[in-house]
Amino acid sequence: MLLCRFNENRLGVVQGQCIRDVTAALDCLPNYRYPLPSCDPLVEHLDTLTVRIQTLLGSAPTVAVESVTLLSPIANPGKIIGAPVNYQDHLQEATSQEELHHGAQINGVEQIGFFLKATSSLVGASEGVTMRYPDRRNDHEIELVVIIGKKGNKIASKDALAHVAGYAIGLDMTVRGLEERSMRKSIDTYSVLGPWLATADEISDPGTLDISLSVNGHARQMANTSDLIIGIPKLIEHASSFYSLHPGDLLFTGTPAGVGPVKAGDRIKASISGIGSMDVSVHA
Ligand code: MN
Repeated sequence: MLLCRFNENRLGVVQGQCIRDVTAALDCLPNYRYPLPSCDPLVEHLDTLTVRIQTLLGSAPTVAVESVTLLSPIANPGKIIGAPVNYQDHLQEATSQEELHHGAQINGVEQIGFFLKATSSLVGASEGVTMRYPDRRNDHEIELVVIIGKKGNKIASKDALAHVAGYAIGLDMTVRGLEERSMRKSIDTYSVLGPWLATADEISDPGTLDISLSVNGHARQMANTSDLIIGIPKLIEHASSFYSLHPGDLLFTGTPAGVGPVKAGDRIKASISGIGSMDVSVHA
């Protein structure tokens, strides 16, 4: 199932070029009292929600995908986890660039672990990216994003995929500079998630997905998740060896070679096989 959040927080199931509006299914989510749970309620109750959606689907009104505003499919992630360099070709690219600029060493997940992006940076495809520090270089990074479905701590890699609710396309936007990654990648709108959540059953093998990104029609990044240095099960094992993972937590799995600058007025197209494509505008 391809599940989207659109317009004024409506819930939809994407079928080809149409969305079936199943917002009424959200009634099955609990009415929370303070304090709110440290996870995303929609993902936590996805099984119950799916049953409700199935009963509504046949008579649900339809709307064209191209006519709606697509919001982040996950509204309230507890945390956004990012893997640094995790493709061999990007490791080489980043190392050569950093040596030129800072003489710094670039290390992957195994050496430096993950970073966190502020949840306030999260937007959907239709909201687009709004530039900060336009005088500095701002880069696109397309990444497969894993959406955690089940709470877990110290998850073994062999059990890891059972903790996955689904997948989405992510843009880990980055302003270049000397600040910590967590700051440079946490600017408002610098975490794009979309165009929707592809539930885990839609993706038979997350380790064989084609990834591509173009800017204004020019190809920039092209890869396959089979080239990940550390695959998804090991990423989940490693992340959860430090912190508990909760339903709705987002894991950005790293970007391949071809990262490059964007500026206001650019149009990014990001695609991952099995999920779909999203057009993301860059605003001043
Ligand atoms: Mn990244």
